[in-house]
Amino acid sequence: MTLYDVVQVASLGQGFDERLAARYRVLQTWQSPRGLAGFGDELKSVRVAVTSVRHGFTQAMFEAMPALQAVCSWGVGHDTLDLAAAADRGVAVSTTPGVLDDCVADLAWALLLSTARRTAEGDRYVKTGQWRALGQFPLTTKVSGKRLGILGLGRIGEAIARRGTGFDMAVRYHSRTPRQGVPYGYEASLVALAGWSDFLVVACVGGAATRHLVNAPVLRALGPRGILINIARGSVVDQAALLSALRSGELGGAGLDVLEQEPAPATEFAALDQVSLMPHVGSATRETREAMSELVLDNVIAFMQSGKLLTPIALRESS
Ligand code: NAP
Repeated sequence: MTLYDVVQVASLGQGFDERLAARYRVLQTWQSPRGLAGFGDELKSVRVAVTSVRHGFTQAMFEAMPALQAVCSWGVGHDTLDLAAAADRGVAVSTTPGVLDDCVADLAWALLLSTARRTAEGDRYVKTGQWRALGQFPLTTKVSGKRLGILGLGRIGEAIARRGTGFDMAVRYHSRTPRQGVPYGYEASLVALAGWSDFLVVACVGGAATRHLVNAPVLRALGPRGILINIARGSVVDQAALLSALRSGELGGAGLDVLEQEPAPATEFAALDQVSLMPHVGSATRETREAMSELVLDNVIAFMQSGKLLTPIALRESS
């Protein structure tokens, strides 16, 4: 029986898969129809696991790999990784922070501009001949010089804030802890931040601790002219409350890269022109996806050589 060093539960692209396999004895469980469940003793020698935020890493996966020392995950979210199990087992975990901030922030801005200025609707208006048939497109909402609120001023939140200053916007944020050394105002209450904001961008972590943080009172505070943007996780926003606020006109509009259920079925949002949707593609550019895969590979190599990950996450703090 082959003794494997690395288990790869998700393919990270042909270039990555080939380079990893050229260096180590890699068990590619994604090639098997039963995935990880199709293996037993082959997993016993594995020291490092490669996964993605979509495939996650569960308690059962930890239990199947008694020699496991590190999990290298592709993506920055860790809501699908069982960090408590990792901490209990003393397994180090890395994600791919930093390299995707620009693209996720760019997409937040694409959604913000598209929702405020209704660019997707305008595109359909021209392409389907409505311009000629109906004439002038309805008035939309100004962006520059307005108030930008950010829920979660982490790496991505800060990249979104920086872009806001380029649009001459006043920027404030809410998180559990105020940040030192940033030029943006802190709001201790999310409802107060929403009440102040013209645009509220959700950029905090997902998971149980932030579930439905954006609820009916927050949406009410944002108000009939307010626009909500979510590039974080669908779970952070109470989607039923969001739909209700949009339908009743209590909220002005929404731009969403993430939804509570993904991939979303033909959606209730379809009838709402004041909503812009994207299929969870914040980091999905060729350049950024390559940089993310590169950072996973660098983490695996660093761990194999030194026993240390390059971009570990703090396990207890983040759970
Ligand atoms: P980060 O640097 O760790 O920042 C996370 C922020 O969330 C921090 O400001 C943190 O501040 C705040 N936060 C955590 N718990 C909170 C709570 N209970 N209430 C309020 N704020 C809270 O993470 P990042 O790299 O910017 O990424 C942020 C998230 O973006 C990821 O976790 C992921 O879910 C999402 N994301 C989405 C895409 C996409 O494709 N759409 C791509 C990448 C990432 P405090 O600790 O002070 O509260």
